[in-house]
Amino acid sequence: MRLSRYFLPTLRETPAEAEIVSHRLMLRAGMIRQESAGIYAWMPLGLKVLRKIEQVVREEQNRSGAVELLMPTIQSADLWRESGRYNDYGKEMLRIQDRHERDMLFGPTNEEMITEIFRASVRSYRDLPMNLYHIQWKFRDEVRPRFGVMRSREFLMKDAYSFDLDKEGARVSYNKMFVAYLRTFKRLGLTAIPMKAESGPIGGDMSHEFIILAETGESEVFCDNKLLDLPTPEQDVDFDSDLSPIVDEWLSYYAATDEMHEAGRFESEVAEDRRVSARGIEVGHIFYFGTKYSEPMGAKVAGPDGSEKPVHMGSYGIGPTRLAAAIIEASHDENGIIWPASVAPFDIGLINLRVGDDKTDSTCKSLMAELEAAGIEVLLDDTDDRAGAKFANMDLIGLPIQVVVGPKGLAENTIEVKTRAGGDRQSIPLDGAASAIADMVRKAKGALAA
Ligand code: ATP
Ligand code: MG
Repeated sequence: MRLSRYFLPTLRETPAEAEIVSHRLMLRAGMIRQESAGIYAWMPLGLKVLRKIEQVVREEQNRSGAVELLMPTIQSADLWRESGRYNDYGKEMLRIQDRHERDMLFGPTNEEMITEIFRASVRSYRDLPMNLYHIQWKFRDEVRPRFGVMRSREFLMKDAYSFDLDKEGARVSYNKMFVAYLRTFKRLGLTAIPMKAESGPIGGDMSHEFIILAETGESEVFCDNKLLDLPTPEQDVDFDSDLSPIVDEWLSYYAATDEMHEAGRFESEVAEDRRVSARGIEVGHIFYFGTKYSEPMGAKVAGPDGSEKPVHMGSYGIGPTRLAAAIIEASHDENGIIWPASVAPFDIGLINLRVGDDKTDSTCKSLMAELEAAGIEVLLDDTDDRAGAKFANMDLIGLPIQVVVGPKGLAENTIEVKTRAGGDRQSIPLDGAASAIADMVRKAKGALAA
């Protein structure tokens, strides 16, 4: 992509309304634009990041055995009357009427709808376990939308729903999502810690929020610092095997959100120098809720003995739009965003230092062609801005590798490569540069995906 033909509405000034760094940087880098309170348009650069986050989430859901479908955003109120939640949900639900004065709503979540889909066609325990997910926009009329897409009213959510014959089966499904979540967040370059969370009327120990530590987080959290460097399950983890040893290890260390925090236990279980009490951002939530929806909505299957029982369900959410902001909270410096290779909008920022100079122009053009042929995404700055402005802009938008081409280097047949994260620069020979750079990109991506 050539910057001169792209749409990248960056801002010079720091927007006054943005209170946290991710919001400021998303606005400055031209990723998002607020259209109403808590409702955002995703500009081209932001959309590229969002799609990459979604794709990582999708790949890990699929790997764990979940199956993707797509449910609508608009739902019928009658479905929610069946579960009893239409009246309970309160003002967060956006309620609408169609031209026939039928009550509809913009979905804040999809438990009712997925239960309806399930009950319409699944009859036997032989079809279980089943886990269905979609990645779809949600609307919640939050009391205080703020921090940009971190807490917005319209937001994207990946929500998965598991169906099992009994609680033991549900735990197996829960563990799969637990492991899939660990892998998902790691691939996004994040250290997310599963923390014991409120489990509602059912109680029990199957509700965890995945939290990344950040000063600007809205939740107060407490954990053992051992969790910060526990190894994440590798790519070849077998989702058909018993995952409880992995899950149990993660759960053997203290970690709780403030609603579930027990100060006495924290102090007795965790040595003083290992106690972390911090603020965190909830990026995912996994939850077992038994027959809460299957019972009132009649989602039953026949067990091996022929008798019909309501299925045991769990739901599993991740917020890709919130994640875009959370990744920035975790990865930036005073100059701008530092994207992890897995979600960078472009892999390479190619800077032409002397637009109009034949050799510089043609070198940029052929480098870009070679890199793109190798499947590497390149943003070429071919504008006539000053060099300083080009460098600042590339730093702001945070592409992991910058490649600088100018007449001075070319006189010696070299170009310059800078890594955004470490800031180190090196001159490399022009000859073979494209394949060397492509290798760097693949290595950085591979390290996260392992
Ligand atoms: P919170 O406690 O932050 O309000 P929640 O517990 O209501 O979130 P869930 O219903 O568990 O959220 O939703 C699953 C995921 O959806 C969350 O972990 C989060 O990543 C995302 N999410 C929820 N609400 C919002 C929002 N208002 N804006 C952006 N993302 C959201
Ligand atoms: Mg939650």
